[in-house]
Amino acid sequence: NEDRMLEIRVIPYGDKQRLLIARDITRIKQLEEMRRDFVANVSHELKTPLTVLQGYVEVMQMTAEPDTMLAKQYGAMEQQSQRMKNLVDRLLVLSRIESATDIDFEQQVDMPAVMERIEKEGLELARESHQLEFRIDTNLTVYGDEMQLHSACANLVQNALRYTDSGKVTVSWALEAGRPVFRVADEGEGIPAEHIARLTERFYRVDSARSRDTGGSGLGLAIVKHALSHHNSVLQVESTVGKGSCFSFELPPTLHVVRNKLA
Ligand code: ADP
Repeated sequence: NEDRMLEIRVIPYGDKQRLLIARDITRIKQLEEMRRDFVANVSHELKTPLTVLQGYVEVMQMTAEPDTMLAKQYGAMEQQSQRMKNLVDRLLVLSRIESATDIDFEQQVDMPAVMERIEKEGLELARESHQLEFRIDTNLTVYGDEMQLHSACANLVQNALRYTDSGKVTVSWALEAGRPVFRVADEGEGIPAEHIARLTERFYRVDSARSRDTGGSGLGLAIVKHALSHHNSVLQVESTVGKGSCFSFELPPTLHVVRNKLA
């Protein structure tokens, strides 16, 4: 039957034999798709009423006497509705990336330009106690999806800044042993080893209060994971509590183009 999906695994069995395990995953895939569609629809439906509410809150804020109790309450309402809007936006990005099927690997992504954008966005987020340093190979571009690669890199840089109170955040994009590698190293709080394997799960946070205070949604690394998996890559995390973390990924060597060597 053409509509069914099978997952086939080949496992070594003894010296010369192989064990073939076939599992019908049609239903699992259908349910997964239904969940994704549901989240995308709910997020989309929430967007309009939220925008209307935000508009009213803005008007109310303008009419309130400054420094009054009422002004404070409107301020809190505005802050919370902004948080909700960020969450809805992130959910929409996640479902768009999750449900993206084939990437057009004919498209070249100007990664140095993407890095320039991320640096600008990073500088807006950085505080005085941060030193943000970008080391970019300006000739290194790749084939892939620009929106997804931008999302992956931008999320990692935002996290490095958000989870570092003070210190250096170093971002690099360069060829290493023939592979394009993106790396963000911070001198922040670090992550206890037992949390590392679960970081890319939706809404998984090491410290929920800290994530909330810094404007987190708990979806950033899930977005990174899906964007990278579409590019046949995985997120690598190294971290030492109290010293800092390093998040990186490498793209397959077949994806890169060194710009000045192009015909
Ligand atoms: P959030 O929006 O909560 O930051 P993410 O999915 O981006 O969600 O990250 C998941 C969790 O991983 C965060 O809540 C935080 O606990 C941890 N984390 C991510 N990046 C860093 C980092 N650079 N340093 C320390 N902890 C981090």
